[in-house]
Amino acid sequence: NSSDIKVLLLENVNKTGQDILRKKGYQVEALKTSLPDDQLIEKLRDVHVIGIRSKTQLTANILKHAKNLIVIGCFCIAENGICVFNSPFSNSRSVAELMIGEIITLARQLGDRNNELHDGVWNKVSAGCWEVRGKTLGIVGYGHVGSQLSVLAEAMGMKVLFYDVVNLMSMGVASPVHTLDELLQQADFVTLHVPELPETKNMISTHQFEQMKQGSYLINASRGSVVDIPALIKASQDGKLAGAALDVYPNEPGGNGEHFNSNLNDFTEDLRKLKNILLTPHIGGSTEEAQSAIGVEVAESLVNYVNLGTTSAAVNMPEVTLRSLTMDEPNHVRVIYIHRNVPGVLRRVNEILGDHNVDKQMTDSRGDVAYLMADISNVNTSEIKDLYQSLEDLGSRIRTRVLY
Ligand code: NAD
Repeated sequence: NSSDIKVLLLENVNKTGQDILRKKGYQVEALKTSLPDDQLIEKLRDVHVIGIRSKTQLTANILKHAKNLIVIGCFCIAENGICVFNSPFSNSRSVAELMIGEIITLARQLGDRNNELHDGVWNKVSAGCWEVRGKTLGIVGYGHVGSQLSVLAEAMGMKVLFYDVVNLMSMGVASPVHTLDELLQQADFVTLHVPELPETKNMISTHQFEQMKQGSYLINASRGSVVDIPALIKASQDGKLAGAALDVYPNEPGGNGEHFNSNLNDFTEDLRKLKNILLTPHIGGSTEEAQSAIGVEVAESLVNYVNLGTTSAAVNMPEVTLRSLTMDEPNHVRVIYIHRNVPGVLRRVNEILGDHNVDKQMTDSRGDVAYLMADISNVNTSEIKDLYQSLEDLGSRIRTRVLY
């Protein structure tokens, strides 16, 4: 029953998200701060859903006490069968807009002019300053951010090329290229929007800078591992790059303060000395709009998981979902069985479900954890407890839920 579901939201989770959960009838307690471990353990004893941002660390020790917890929402971005959701794509537009700002800022050397005038120096120059109209933008990784950027850049009159490992439909009149080198050889501005993967580590290094046009620009707001920064410093010092912008770094400080120094990355001092380089503290997705969108996206994922058991957008469970047309009919139940991914489990589960009419069933696994969802009809209320208990008694069980 929705009104039995207890939700604890920490760290001032955005109000948009709180409202969605309250409207569903859940009991929502929202705190402005994180909690010390002992208080958190106390609170978690009877909570079903917890929403956190980046400060709270839900350690194995804390989760051990959270007997009723079924789902965690990370409003930032499962061995014990607790599902975790975050919101990776709510900020794509914010990142894309920052790219547009940085492209113009680099083309006009705004960062340097701004720094100079703050130091009292009037330095009116036009040499090496450009309009962006008619220039070529090369987008590496044409996913959520890359494709948004494509549309915005075209609206400013840029020609757009993109490179992705997947064959994707162009937005507007953007052109796909077949290799990264092909993109690098033609682009005036290169922006990176690939995920952090072994294949993308140092994806832009000495060879790639050699491929780039003389006087071109590089922007990285993807992940710090993607660019070989010593190679970037060299390409800037050699004049190959006319400018660069970095929002992400191999090592980033844990919090705000004067931490961006050589203790963190041994090249930071060299980086800070370069001309026409924009350094920002991982703010690509940091906007009021993105925070609000994260609130909606994570809260909706939590509701769908609590009410329907669907795991779409979960970070630690396989994606399992079934159409829920029959959920509200009498004598229908939905069985969720999270179990260890070992041979023979499905046969035993189906022996238990087999006395009833299984309308639909889906199962998938991710690493050691498997997730089964089955909609069954002809179940009397009196049988639900037995059904639940038989599944709980299987050795492979991590967590059983019966929704009705
Ligand atoms: P996405 O998953 O939607 O898109 C990534 C794209 O990269 C996909 O189309 C994928 O096919 C492609 N790709 C993967 N490997 C590739 C390779 N080796 N070569 C070329 N293309 C490859 O991700 P997104 O939401 O667009 O985010 C892109 C990056 O930006 C991610 O690394 C993300 O973590 C980062 N990001 C940073 C900020 C920030 O604050 N700076 C905010 C949001 C996202």
